[in-house]
Amino acid sequence: MKPIHIIGGGLAGSEAAWQVAQAGVPVVLHEMRPVRGTDAHKTDGLAELVCSNSFRSDDAETNAVGVLHAEMRLAGSLIMSSGDANQVPAGGALAVDREGFSEAVTEALEAHPLITIAREEITGLPPEEWDEAIIATGPLTAPALAEAISAATGSESLAFFDAIAPIVHFDTINLDIAWFQSRYDKVGPGGTGKDYINCPMDKAQYEAFIQALLDGGKTEFKEWEGTPYFDGCLPIEVMAERGPETLRHGPMKPMGLTNAHKPDEKPYAVVQLRQDNALGTLYNMVGFQTKLKYGEQTHIFRMIPGLETAEFARLGGLHRNTYLNSPALLDGTLQLKTRTGLRFAGQITGCEGYVESAAMGLIAGRFAAAARLGRPLTPPPATTAFGALLNHITGGHILSEDEPGKRSFQPMNVNFGLFPPIEVPKPEGKRLRGKEKTLAKKRAMSARALADCKAWLEGAAAEIAAE
Ligand SMILES: Cc1cc2nc3c(=O)[nH]c(=O)nc-3n(C[C@H](O)[C@H](O)[C@H](O)COP(=O)(O)OP(=O)(O)OC[C@H]3O[C@@H](n4cnc5c(N)ncnc54)[C@H](O)[C@@H]3O)c2cc1C
Repeated sequence: MKPIHIIGGGLAGSEAAWQVAQAGVPVVLHEMRPVRGTDAHKTDGLAELVCSNSFRSDDAETNAVGVLHAEMRLAGSLIMSSGDANQVPAGGALAVDREGFSEAVTEALEAHPLITIAREEITGLPPEEWDEAIIATGPLTAPALAEAISAATGSESLAFFDAIAPIVHFDTINLDIAWFQSRYDKVGPGGTGKDYINCPMDKAQYEAFIQALLDGGKTEFKEWEGTPYFDGCLPIEVMAERGPETLRHGPMKPMGLTNAHKPDEKPYAVVQLRQDNALGTLYNMVGFQTKLKYGEQTHIFRMIPGLETAEFARLGGLHRNTYLNSPALLDGTLQLKTRTGLRFAGQITGCEGYVESAAMGLIAGRFAAAARLGRPLTPPPATTAFGALLNHITGGHILSEDEPGKRSFQPMNVNFGLFPPIEVPKPEGKRLRGKEKTLAKKRAMSARALADCKAWLEGAAAEIAAE
């Protein structure tokens, strides 16, 4: 059987290689380290963790990444079994001994009879004879390959920095203060004239907000990242530094908006949020990319009227990061729409984090192996953490058309806002409210995800057994 070629032996590529080989298909895994390094990796081990040693929460009942852990374990993940075998104490989180973890992954892949590891840099798109291939070269993809991907997909399609604005769970926005309206009630393509959620500020609130931005702690760029500020994408705190009125003439301008709750009061400034996913569960803060520290962001953004109790699905950031405009380029099996058999996996697809990257490696590996074996694989249901993440990458995100030249697709961790909503069964004689209701929803979504994931995996196994 012809092998599947996987480029990049990081979190995603290592998991993809394992899944393909476990399906009985040979793999060649091409990893450039130690022949060529990256700015962040320090060893030649596979699945090296470049920064923190945490896989985050291991709670599969009320935390979306914990659910993803559990689904990956069900699917026989090498990343999870190696993480579990090298666990260090970290409360409710799964943290690992990074060296032991990377060694365990490397040893398992080296020992697998169907896996060949080639230590070499791949400098162009996979040649045609690699008819099934996965590119999993991560946020620091080597330049020659990045250029080849960019040339094949269009220069706008591959980003080299993310510029992340915070995303808020819709059901935590106070619509007694905020209101729906597009600027000048403009309908636009596919719009209704009420596409944005607007949060009003008076002069005192605006001035206090600007001061908080100036005072807030910022994250520094790493030396090798450079300072990737470009027009239309300045962090809000940098705009605030340029003068107190800058934001009021930029993303916080109040023009063309009338406060539906107080039509006679002209807002001094307005923060706008735009629907981010097709489900309508997430809204992003328009133009609010930032390098403020995470803790500061939560506290400062809750100063915005209407967002006092906002819960954030994603906080803002700006990093060096190579990733595709996946909703436009990839199909539901992570395959490039313009080239059958070429898939992408890991952070380059627009997910964020070790676990999410490995999960997308797992899924890409399963799709590739199924294609090689001539056994089409049904995608994981949208109700699973696998499916929720896959849908975000390949179809759930709404690409913004009303801000030409700006990319709206930005990397994201797995979170419950990506899952289809669920009705929580009411306990007899009791009405759930507030935190209790949120927790009940999370429990219900987690239980549904794990049941559906089991059924999906068992369905695939049963089809193979029937053959
Ligand atoms: C500085 C930094 C800090 C981060 N901190 C965290 C964190 O604390 N927690 C977290 O969850 N996530 C963090 N991330 C994100 C993290 O990198 C990713 O989530 C994860 O490692 C991505 O997995 P991946 O497999 O997609 O890419 P990687 O793990 O980066 O793997 C890609 C592999 O491809 C290889 N490669 C690249 N180009 C080529 C080529 N042309 N030919 C052959 N091989 C190639 C690389 O050497 C590398 O081994 C951080 C990222 C960066 C850049």
